[in-house]
Amino acid sequence: MTADERFHDTAMPPFPWQQPAWQRLCEQFHASRLPHAFLVHGVPGVGALEYAAAAARYLLCHAPLEDVACGRCRGCSLLKAGSHPDIFRLRAEEDATQIKVDQVRECVEFVARTAHFDLRKVVIVEHADAMNINASNALLKSLEEPGADTVFILVTQRLSAILPTIRSRCQSVALQVPPLDEAQRWLQEQGLDQDKQGLLAQAGGAPLLVRQWVQDDFPARQATLFEQLSHLLEGRVEGLRVAQDWQKQSMDELLQNLLFALDALIRDKLSHAGTAPPETRALAQSASGLSVQLLFKLRDRLVVKMQQWRRNSNLNPAMFTEELALDWQALSRRSARA
Ligand SMILES: [Zn+2]
Repeated sequence: MTADERFHDTAMPPFPWQQPAWQRLCEQFHASRLPHAFLVHGVPGVGALEYAAAAARYLLCHAPLEDVACGRCRGCSLLKAGSHPDIFRLRAEEDATQIKVDQVRECVEFVARTAHFDLRKVVIVEHADAMNINASNALLKSLEEPGADTVFILVTQRLSAILPTIRSRCQSVALQVPPLDEAQRWLQEQGLDQDKQGLLAQAGGAPLLVRQWVQDDFPARQATLFEQLSHLLEGRVEGLRVAQDWQKQSMDELLQNLLFALDALIRDKLSHAGTAPPETRALAQSASGLSVQLLFKLRDRLVVKMQQWRRNSNLNPAMFTEELALDWQALSRRSARA
């Protein structure tokens, strides 16, 4: 299911771990005390955008059933078809990283119009942190004096990147990662078997991230990477060759996986072996001749690289990945077991 299909899927209720926030929304709805604006935030994989979409469906449904959208009325049908006149999705255009001021102006015009149906209008700002200062300021006036019939739902994974002037005008909806057993139960209901659920720790406990990883073949990519690291340590492959492969991957994912591998190896060393998770067991074998100090040094270098990458995503990927791979290759002689 694509992100757009999920957005319009009227059959999908809010997720179990979102229930506390959802109950509050429903109470405000029944008491006719909806705030003008919500700011929904949480780490990636906790479903902030999905929550916002479910809230929009609920607020635009003509006959909600048991506190979720009915999925059958005119409002629900139009939403599902992506042609509801009373919703505006403000988001960065494809290939753009920022929401443009012109898009915000369009949104402001939408807010000024009267609702097509006799309910309300909803504005969803996806990745509200993608608004720069100009865009934020252009939206601010609408947030300060919205029409009585408009509800804003701003969504972000980076709360600290939202201007205080915007934050102060929204009711905060903090979505938390569920407890481990609840997350596992949900993944099981989604048909994910036990070893896939092991990804939860890597995903920081966020269930939707695990589901997405499994859907887009993350475990297979990760296994390939760990095998390459093994071969680098054993001196069976050239770093430059591996780097060519790494250049084609998502850099964020690569860096995250390298950090995960190093942390697993270091934990394994400190606990005197045998505790490496199944994904990194073969790699731990290849690293058995290395001291924990060397691994810590490699980790320090990696963390510096990660900071470089975050600060400047215009780095030359060829050079950057070569440096990463050569760092591992440099350990190959030392890792050879006596
Ligand atoms: Zn409905």
